[in-house]
Amino acid sequence: MSRIVYVNGQYLPEAEATVSIFDRGFLMADAVYEVTSVLDGKLLDFAGHQARLARSLNELEMQRPCSDDELLAIHRELVTRNDLTDGMIYLQVTRGNPGDRDFAFPDASVKPTLVLFTQSKPGMADAPAAKTGIKVISIDDLRWGRRDIKTVQLLYPSLGKMMAKKAGADDAWLVEDGHVTEGTSNNAYIVKGGRIITRNLSHDILHGITRAAVLRFAAEAQMEVEERPFTIAEAKAADEAFYTSASGFVTPVVEIDGAAIGTGKPGAVAKRLREIYLDESRKTAI
Ligand code: PMP
Repeated sequence: MSRIVYVNGQYLPEAEATVSIFDRGFLMADAVYEVTSVLDGKLLDFAGHQARLARSLNELEMQRPCSDDELLAIHRELVTRNDLTDGMIYLQVTRGNPGDRDFAFPDASVKPTLVLFTQSKPGMADAPAAKTGIKVISIDDLRWGRRDIKTVQLLYPSLGKMMAKKAGADDAWLVEDGHVTEGTSNNAYIVKGGRIITRNLSHDILHGITRAAVLRFAAEAQMEVEERPFTIAEAKAADEAFYTSASGFVTPVVEIDGAAIGTGKPGAVAKRLREIYLDESRKTAI
């Protein structure tokens, strides 16, 4: 079935949706994005994703394409038109099409480009990776210095995923100055002696919406959380490890650079947090 996607005010079959070759998203990666998960036709953590989008746009002095209410209406319309039960909605805002290539930002008369599309993932809450856990390798973090802004500069994360694939693993954890920053497309955690350890927020990592929710639920469940950088050596010696992201929720990590973590099986803390996250997010889904 052909998807109906959204481009600058229009709902179109995917084959008819186009963006100019002069669009700054295409030429300069001058664009930000969000991915919101959908379970049972409802949006998870929508307010969090909209707040982060507003922050990303603000940091880059990019115009808002429309109001939050309009964005919610577009998300809902795409769910309806595509009969989406479980999956994701991808949203991208670019600085628009100035009609030529120029490094300087165009003036305010150039309107941002807004694109949204759905990705159907039936049964995503029961993904096999949640039961088996995933394997990661560690690689240098060679990204730019403002990873807190969710830009579409995803070439290095793509290279990282390919390095992982070639090494027979599922993902890469990025390391800078001897400490893990995050995964290529997720936030990274270890558990030691019952304490959940994850890197503190700064410009070095994306401020994950799932991270914020999971840390809140962990605190409510009286689990101890320590927000600080950790090393790969600490991760290898941890009792368990996991990652969080909007589409992976809470997913166990069972191996780092070929070394089994803990028992080499998904850990109890990751399992519990995944359950709590899914239960609570379903309750507040809109
Ligand atoms: N870090 C990076 C680099 C990411 O790309 C993502 C996913 N977009 C995350 C963390 C997790 O963020 P969220 O929980 O908001 O999906």
